[in-house]
Amino acid sequence: MAENIFDCPLPDENGFFGEYGGAFIPPELQVIMNEISSSYDEIRKDSDFLNELADLYQHYVGRPSPLFHAKHLSKKYGAAIYFKREDLNHTGAHKINHCLGEALLAKKMGKKKLIAETGAGQHGVALATAAALVGLECDIYMGEVDMEKERPNVVRMHILGAKVIPATHGRRTLKEAVDTAFENYLKDPVTQFYAIGSVVGPHPFPKMVRDFQSIVGVEAKEQFQQITGKLPENLVASVGGGSNAMGLFTAFINDESVAMHGVEPAGRSLEIPGENAATMTLGKPGVMHGFKSYMLQDSNGEPQEVYSVASGLDYPSVGPQHAYLKDIGRVNYHYVYDHEAIDAFFELSREEGIIPAIESAHAVAYALKLAKENNNGGTILVNLSGRGDKDIDFVVENYGDKYGIK
Ligand SMILES: *Cc1c(COP(=O)(O)O)cnc(C)c1O
Repeated sequence: MAENIFDCPLPDENGFFGEYGGAFIPPELQVIMNEISSSYDEIRKDSDFLNELADLYQHYVGRPSPLFHAKHLSKKYGAAIYFKREDLNHTGAHKINHCLGEALLAKKMGKKKLIAETGAGQHGVALATAAALVGLECDIYMGEVDMEKERPNVVRMHILGAKVIPATHGRRTLKEAVDTAFENYLKDPVTQFYAIGSVVGPHPFPKMVRDFQSIVGVEAKEQFQQITGKLPENLVASVGGGSNAMGLFTAFINDESVAMHGVEPAGRSLEIPGENAATMTLGKPGVMHGFKSYMLQDSNGEPQEVYSVASGLDYPSVGPQHAYLKDIGRVNYHYVYDHEAIDAFFELSREEGIIPAIESAHAVAYALKLAKENNNGGTILVNLSGRGDKDIDFVVENYGDKYGIK
């Protein structure tokens, strides 16, 4: 494994990226987080662990994922557009990168069971996969409404040997799944390991998940230089919690010539609260789920209800390092509406023969905008975070007419 993966100056020892991050949690949980933190600091220097992870990345996930020059889109939009193909990973997205890391750590710490919440089921499936491979039990908490909607992922988790536990209160979706998972984690944080699904949550999770994902940027940088002899001028990635974006950005963070763009969902409207998840555009600093970052709040200071056509992006906060990178101006954050993401979903499918996840289509939509604006040159490297198999029924049912599918 490349040695610079784990070589980042931030966060500080308390998990802060500037004023963001930290751990705002009950003392009994702080004890557990301290154990996770010190175990992680040990294993990140342990060559056995690093070799084991590198071996799984290569032979299980299929890394390195290819870097693909999209010639048709490049010609049509007037910039050289490249895709980092995380959609080709085993299980179909980048999430397996950090799930394997977390599962190996949990195993080394002697934990018996991995637990997590899931919205659309993508994190649940990736974690259930890692649990099966590493040999740990796995409980996934999921809102009853989401279980109904995302039946195939529920079935996948069952086949993989995980237990799927419904959250039956409130709106019975992601937030309730987090509540239920957290409640059950607190009952037994000693044998269970809560494997957070993005660069969010209390320290050390934003750092740890970023480190595991940084393989994406390390590979992409080497591949891009091999193909073009240069660094890319622009990086583009979708931002839900922010893990695929941090995965791509980290290796380039000190390369000042490389502009970085994070893309969040504007959903159906930026004006109507609850109709988007544009945390960077509309949010304010606040504390939620154990960390400080930008967040969307309602008038009572509670997490705002959020919406996006991409269920992997509808989170009312964002990883603390993103908040920091926004404030210092190192990363630019943009928003893309549902209909623009769906246009890009079809554009990529029909121009290049790649059906992207709707989450990833947000990044593609912004990349095409950027290409048009910069007409005449420029290079854009887009993180294609996942494949669109999970989305095809939904897209055809809701948007098929518009694109000539019946
Ligand atoms: C979960 C998911 C995302 C959003 O999560 P991040 O932590 O922001 O990367 C993006 N793309 C795909 C394909 C996903 O499954």
